[in-house]
Amino acid sequence: MQILDGKLVSATIKQNLKEKISRMPDLRPPHLAAILIGNNTASETYVANKIKSCEEAGFSSSLYSFDSDISKQILLNKIQELNEDEKVDGILVQLPLPSHISESEILEAVHPSKDVDGFHPLNAGRLMQGKPCYVPATPYGIMLMLEHYKINTAGKHAVVIGRSNIVGRPMSILLSGNSEPGNCTVTVCHSRSKDIEAICKNADIIVAAIGKAGFVKASMVREGAIVIDVGINRVDDPGKKSGFRLTGDVDFAPVAPLCSFITPVPGGVGPMTIAALMKNTFRAWADKFHLSDL
Ligand code: NAD
Repeated sequence: MQILDGKLVSATIKQNLKEKISRMPDLRPPHLAAILIGNNTASETYVANKIKSCEEAGFSSSLYSFDSDISKQILLNKIQELNEDEKVDGILVQLPLPSHISESEILEAVHPSKDVDGFHPLNAGRLMQGKPCYVPATPYGIMLMLEHYKINTAGKHAVVIGRSNIVGRPMSILLSGNSEPGNCTVTVCHSRSKDIEAICKNADIIVAAIGKAGFVKASMVREGAIVIDVGINRVDDPGKKSGFRLTGDVDFAPVAPLCSFITPVPGGVGPMTIAALMKNTFRAWADKFHLSDL
């Protein structure tokens, strides 16, 4: 069994981007603008990690924080301002949004050329058709991880559990695409699927993106499977100062010995998501300066 070390791969990707940027001293560095609304502690942590990663990759960044009672119009105005700002390459709106603001309306307001999270319908449609686009950071990060470890996926049966627009669905499209990694036969399971255990037992690759701690049990995993755990769940842990610990959607301790490869939580898909966001932002920057050969 080999652990897929997202921290290590992510650091390598960021270092590589930093080196490329340092070869262009006459250009301003890539710039990511992040919008954070409310005081959800998990969102605050995610955004702080993204800003820190910008520094590590040699990017500049800006953070716009708003109270949770912000009006939709003020938010749309800010996005419009960032869309028009030549010095901003990528715009990130941290989800979830307060319930009075329509997520789809906000995500569609981000200009597709700055949509480094890959959530705009134009990018989602291009992904569907296998055209160049910004791929949502989590599934893109998983593809980068599979690529880094040279995991051959062609012809394998991949089971993706979860069908969200930001993880499960784009993941299933990427894994079934005519690419390497890719070329899998993909089954998508969701909350209404029946007999997920038997479907998973038949999988060469399982991607768990459900949001339920320990959902994937050892009885669902066959010997030699590749298990990618996307879930980030907080479970009570009185032994921790914070009172909780983070755990994935996979029951890691009994599942890991069965696997050929497995991602840990934390330290697996999370850092790869950020690395993918950095790669998307870098590409937005490179495209702006017509640096196609980078
Ligand atoms: P979501 O709530 O939008 O989607 C969850 C999916 O799980 C749904 O499609 C639903 O059909 C499916 N599901 C729910 N209950 C199920 C059940 N009993 N059986 C089978 N399927 C079931 O969540 P999401 O945004 O896709 O995120 C999923 C998980 O991944 C969450 O824990 C989230 O925190 C985590 N996440 C991690 C990263 C990262 O960078 N590591 C990024 C995004 C999301």
